[in-house]
Amino acid sequence: MQRIEEFVDDRQKSWCIHCGRSLTGLDTNDDHVPSKSLLSKPRPHHLPVVTICRECNTNFSRDEQYAVTFLSCVLSGSSAPEHQSNASAARALTASPGLRALIEQSRTEYTTVGGQKRILWKPDAERINRVVVKNARGHAYFEWGEPLLDAPVHVWAFPLASMPSEQRSEFEGAGEDAGLAVWPEVGSRMMSRLVTGADILDGWVIVQPGIYRYSVDESGGLRVRTVLWEYLATEVLWES
Ligand SMILES: [Zn+2]
Repeated sequence: MQRIEEFVDDRQKSWCIHCGRSLTGLDTNDDHVPSKSLLSKPRPHHLPVVTICRECNTNFSRDEQYAVTFLSCVLSGSSAPEHQSNASAARALTASPGLRALIEQSRTEYTTVGGQKRILWKPDAERINRVVVKNARGHAYFEWGEPLLDAPVHVWAFPLASMPSEQRSEFEGAGEDAGLAVWPEVGSRMMSRLVTGADILDGWVIVQPGIYRYSVDESGGLRVRTVLWEYLATEVLWES
């Protein structure tokens, strides 16, 4: 715990956790973990904040806008602004016909043998993955107290409902084995201070119920898992 205590009291580190550059002399932004646009209003208070370089922040903003809007379209089954339950997705679709066209192009409809209409969406995986890794870095930083500047060993994002049941129960039981034993105390102390209204449930930190949860454990490396909007499951693994 000592490392976490020291870290919480001394949060202003001198480098950008995403690009590793020294922040001295660079324009910076305060960035929330997880990204605010992924959450619903009213957002939880006291979200962890990390200072990052403005260049990273600007690049992430574009990817985040895409990821949030894409997810919102998938969940609503439409790219029409008026059908979105996420306000920032609705705004982005209205403000950017280009973004709407891009997302619309990734949508295909087909009819099942039984005559049902189904929709498939093909995301820009690189952009989604950049957002996934960005948030995972933030969670790892706050839970672990150190930046992970290396590239992760793997990154994936997959709809929860499309997972085979065995894979899903393994995913949901994040850190159930040896891994989680390292984390509960950290989680309970961190969360009571940093994420108001959040709680640990079965090894997951609930940032906002139904909207965002994550877990960090040390199973074969440092592993960060998130579930966005109870739809998208993600996992990022760094070698320890
Ligand atoms: Zn940076």
